[in-house]
Amino acid sequence: CGIIGLAFAEGSGVASALVRGLKRLEYRGYDSMGVAVIEGPGRLVVRKAAGKIEEVARRTGVLGLRGRVGIGHTRWATHGPPNDVNAHPHTDCGGRVAVVHNGVIRNYASLRRELESRGHRLVSETDTELVAHLVEDYLSRGYSFLEALAFLGRVLRGSYALALLHSGEPERVYFVRYKSPLVVGLGDGVNAVASDITAVLDVARDVVVLEDGEFGWIAPGEVAIYRPRGDGGFEPLPPGELRR
Ligand code: GLU
Repeated sequence: CGIIGLAFAEGSGVASALVRGLKRLEYRGYDSMGVAVIEGPGRLVVRKAAGKIEEVARRTGVLGLRGRVGIGHTRWATHGPPNDVNAHPHTDCGGRVAVVHNGVIRNYASLRRELESRGHRLVSETDTELVAHLVEDYLSRGYSFLEALAFLGRVLRGSYALALLHSGEPERVYFVRYKSPLVVGLGDGVNAVASDITAVLDVARDVVVLEDGEFGWIAPGEVAIYRPRGDGGFEPLPPGELRR
C-alpha cells in the first residue's frame, strides 16, 4: 500500500531511512513490510515478512543492512493472503531484479501461465511477482532495463506504481507509474521515489508528480523520466516539463 525508493550519494544508512519513510506511509494501512538494499555490486539483499514495520525490521535484521540504494514496501494484500512469502519485494529466479508494487495487475493469471510455460518458477501467490520475472525475461533477451520497463507498459493491465532494483546497476532505483500515485523527490545528496509526498518530506526539497505511463530511474544526483511515444518507443521528458 506504500512504496519508497531512495538513492543516497554517501553513507550506508539507506535501510533505516527506508523504514522511516515507510512509517510515514503507515496511515494508509498495511499487513506486511519489506525492503531490498544493494549492499554492493551484484549483492541485492531482501528482508520481508507479514507484521508491523518495526517488529519485522527487528526480526529480519533490516537495520543491519548496509547500503546507499534501496526500496521498501508496506503491503495491503489483494492477491494472496498476508504472509512472509507474499510480502514484497519480489525477485526473479536469479535474484537480480527486485520489485515492490502498489495496485493490481488484472491480467496476472495469463501472464503467469505464459512465464511458467517458459520455465520461470514463481513462489508467491501475488499478482506482483511476475513483474520481476517479466523484466528478467526481457533482460535475458538482450533488452536494456529501460526497454524492459517500456514493455511492461504495453503488457500489464490494471494499476501499478512500481519501484525496482537491478543488481547490475547498484546506483539506481527504477520506477513506473500507471493509475497508482507515484512522486519523485529531489534532495541534496539523495533522490527519492514514493507513493506519497509525506514519505519523502524530510529528504526532498522539490517534488515531481509523475503521470500515467511515465517511467525512469533515480540515482544519487541524477533523475531520468521517460514517457511512451505513440509509435511504441519512448522519449525523455523535456526538463522544462518537469512538473513540481
Ligand atoms: N496487489 C499486490 C499484492 O497483493 C500489491 C498490493 C498493495 O498495493 O500493497 O501484493
